[in-house]
Amino acid sequence: MALMAGRPEEYPNWGVIGHEWAIRGLARSLSADQVAHAYLFTGPHGIGKTTLAHALAQALECTGSVRPCGECAACRKVARDRHPDVLVVEGVPVGYGPENTEESEEDLPPPPPRKNDRERRILKVWQIRTVRRAIARTPFEGRWKIIILRRFEEANDSASNAFLKSLEEPPRHVRFILTARDASLVLPTIASRCHVLALRPLPLPQVEDALVKRWHVEPSQAHLLARLSGGRLGWAVRAATPETRGVDGHTLLEERRAHLEDLNRVLQIGYAERLTFAGEVAKDKRNKEDLPDLLEAWMGWWRDLVLIQSGQRDRITNVDFEESLSTQARRLSLEEVHAGLKATRATMRYLEQNVNARLAIEVLLLNLPGDRGN
Ligand SMILES: [Zn+2]
Repeated sequence: MALMAGRPEEYPNWGVIGHEWAIRGLARSLSADQVAHAYLFTGPHGIGKTTLAHALAQALECTGSVRPCGECAACRKVARDRHPDVLVVEGVPVGYGPENTEESEEDLPPPPPRKNDRERRILKVWQIRTVRRAIARTPFEGRWKIIILRRFEEANDSASNAFLKSLEEPPRHVRFILTARDASLVLPTIASRCHVLALRPLPLPQVEDALVKRWHVEPSQAHLLARLSGGRLGWAVRAATPETRGVDGHTLLEERRAHLEDLNRVLQIGYAERLTFAGEVAKDKRNKEDLPDLLEAWMGWWRDLVLIQSGQRDRITNVDFEESLSTQARRLSLEEVHAGLKATRATMRYLEQNVNARLAIEVLLLNLPGDRGN
């Protein structure tokens, strides 16, 4: 593959697939001893921000000759999240931790792992106090105190303001690495004090190749996952891992398949039946947590129909549904497909505004193309 032939071995010790331009810049700063005191890595979930943050932390703490060497004690400790001078902080569930400024957070049990990318968590001011205490001390064994603040878009106002103070007057031995979906979601006074690296999706063949070679994913599965990932390797790896369970204990892929089967069925039933289905979705598939996934899967379906109808079948995402898609691309008119796409997108927006989920789904199902006589 021509793409892979690029420069895959340029920085092999970083252990990061893709994002070569970002690593090149970081490696240059390291060797010139000009590492910024704060970085902000941005990009969609699963694109590799945290992986790159850990690699940079390794490079900073590494005691080997080529940094990061991946083999010294410091590199290994960072990789296992066990380095005493590297602190990783991210938002916690809404009711978790001491809200009152006087309480101690030292004895808190660790928060439960995130259920999925959409789970809303908050980075709270007491967590920033923990950070401030950590950076007040000099490093125990490393060269730097490194604070990785993941998903900084989840910081609430008081946490952001508290953090800004640390960022304005950082101790010399501190390096901050923030990650966020987008720089615009971070307080401008914070983003402007960080060196921003906006990570972009990887080319799909690179994702596919990595899934097969490094994670030993079966080739046809890798092909599908690469397309579904939109170039987010971390997402693809999580989706390929059976132990990553989403809502109801299903894998991301199983959930997506169920969502697409639902839509395929909905398009073939009458409006009365659709209302029953809307009731089931709203009641049992509940809660707003799962609906965005459902709608995103449905968006992918409509986009694929548009592609097939415009003669670009080779670019579709849902390759495992090609037959059903072809049938529908023949049955529906161009206008109907665009109407379906538009209605689904509008529903995604309504849900972001906290409208009644059942109502939103009912309206959507009635707006999707079909035979009103049924
Ligand atoms: Zn090392």
